[in-house]
Amino acid sequence: MAKVAINLSTGSIQQEEIIVGIDLGTTNSLVAYIHPDGRHPVAINDQGRGTIVPSVVHFPGGGDTPIVGTDAKEYLLTEPQNTIYSVKRLLGKSYQDLGQHAQELGYKVIDDNSEGLVKIRVGDTFYSPIELSAEILKELRQRAEHALKTPVNKAVITVPAYFNDSQRQATRDAGRLAGLEVLRIVNEPTAAALAYGIGLSPDEEKTVAVYDLGGGTFDVSILRIQQGIFEVLSTNGDTYLGGDDLDRAIINHWTQQHQLAQAVAASGSLQQELRLLAEAAKRYLSQHEDFAANFNDVVLRLTKPEFNDLIRPLVERTITSCRQALADAKLTPADLDAVLLVGGSTRVPLVYDAVSEFFQQPANNSLNPDEVVALGAAIQADILGGNRRDVLLLDVTPLTLGIETLGGLMDPIIPRNSKIPTKAGRQYTTSVDGQVNLKISVYQGERDLVKENRKLAEFDLRGIPAMPAGLPKVDVNFILNADGILKVEAIELRSNTRQAVEIKPQYGLTDEQVEQMLMDSMTHAREDIAARMVIEARTVAEQMLYQVERFVAKNGQHLTPEETTQTHAGVEQLKAALTTQDKDTILKAVDELEELTRPFAERVMNISISQAMAGKKIE
Ligand code: ADP
Ligand code: MG
Repeated sequence: MAKVAINLSTGSIQQEEIIVGIDLGTTNSLVAYIHPDGRHPVAINDQGRGTIVPSVVHFPGGGDTPIVGTDAKEYLLTEPQNTIYSVKRLLGKSYQDLGQHAQELGYKVIDDNSEGLVKIRVGDTFYSPIELSAEILKELRQRAEHALKTPVNKAVITVPAYFNDSQRQATRDAGRLAGLEVLRIVNEPTAAALAYGIGLSPDEEKTVAVYDLGGGTFDVSILRIQQGIFEVLSTNGDTYLGGDDLDRAIINHWTQQHQLAQAVAASGSLQQELRLLAEAAKRYLSQHEDFAANFNDVVLRLTKPEFNDLIRPLVERTITSCRQALADAKLTPADLDAVLLVGGSTRVPLVYDAVSEFFQQPANNSLNPDEVVALGAAIQADILGGNRRDVLLLDVTPLTLGIETLGGLMDPIIPRNSKIPTKAGRQYTTSVDGQVNLKISVYQGERDLVKENRKLAEFDLRGIPAMPAGLPKVDVNFILNADGILKVEAIELRSNTRQAVEIKPQYGLTDEQVEQMLMDSMTHAREDIAARMVIEARTVAEQMLYQVERFVAKNGQHLTPEETTQTHAGVEQLKAALTTQDKDTILKAVDELEELTRPFAERVMNISISQAMAGKKIE
């Protein structure tokens, strides 16, 4: 029985709100929930269509009403320009981030603004990866609502442990666009561990490796679980290595063996057929010894040993990552209590063997590797829904976060593999006398020069009192929250001037708005700068007038009548200059008044110093 709640003010009965767990995968996505009977996680299988929803969005005829999932996948080869796959790779990325990979996709990625986030063109419409991911999430949400016969408005969504802030934020925004309140973004390996029941009892202490080989990506994470706290000790992987590469190895093998290149190049449907056969062979060989099928007048065969030889180099690459992850975590295989297998491609026996051999223990594959992340997300949803003892989730930041310093150097503040939530800071100062603004540019990445890293945000700490260079003390603090969202805060300690940003790159804005903002900042740049300079000049002038008037009032008796007249004239001239909005007129008057008053200011200074000294005894 589902729990019911009674609204005491209206007397109406409310069904317990369902929070689903979603694995938004590069290749496949799933939605799961906690079954009220027995309170165990279940992947939703709506209308017997299976639990897996291929992460493919197809726009029939290039129109704007998409279909999602298995039906959309059919069009990958016949209508590639209208069929979007692997959109997760584009989430939160600029065209620059994608580099040469942009050309490898079958659809059109727009590169007109290489600094901005990528767009995908379908027909005459431009889509952001956020919108396309939202289509997948909408499909999952609809399936859940249909199967559970209740509205679904809340979700936990998983992301790879290596996802950066913009990618996490993009995932959140995709959820919002799909009408889901995203309660938490959870790392996929953390979800997998939860699904295996690790970390659910308070006195448990475990260290585990999560090996996730999916359709197009590979990652391995080392987690430490202690008192219900999940901590990612390290992550490693390859974002361009997965089951698709195994398929490709088979395709290449058959193509060479039977000289299929020409025939396949000439026919899209043959190409499609060959691809499907390769995947079928791979899956078949996970359980059998040989595969055979007819293809365009030839019989394609593959034995398991042949297949293993084809894919061994690929599997070896994943083991190299495992070695690195273990080294980063400063552990040896003997330190691991369990090795968990995640992702459809871990069904390949050679993968199982290689992983078990490297970690010196049998890997755990007792849960369905397709579903394990979604199941764990459902458990996390249940925890957040208050149905379980609160389990704290700690993750790790996979890339260094820092700011730009003189000469374009990257100054790391939070090093990669730091546990989150975390806070770190450093003190800076100005490089120029009288500097009133300090620009803080935030970058993410491992290179020494910021131009090689990814820029996340930039802001000015304004209003630092003009002081000689090196005197202001500016604390820059980075605060990374449990969702991996970064807040950067700068404080000038003498004046307590502060400025903070939450790092949310362009998300939430339409392209038109982003473009408009860019245009505005450019078209108004001159007047903005001019206005600021006038204000700065006025500030200087007003300070000068204040000081001079105070000086005259205090030291008038030391001035000759001529000096007094000249000073008055200079003051009047500056006051007149202040009635204009011309910074040059103002600054010229400031300069003249300063020239005029400097000699007697110095003289008076000497008098007061000698008086002070006369009053004191110097030993
Ligand atoms: P992702 O997390 O990237 O969305 P999945 O974990 O769903 O991906 O994995 C999809 C991959 O798993 C595909 O390449 C698919 O061919 C592969 N796969 C699924 N079942 C098997 C199997 N029985 N044997 C080998 N590979 C499989
Ligand atoms: Mg996955």
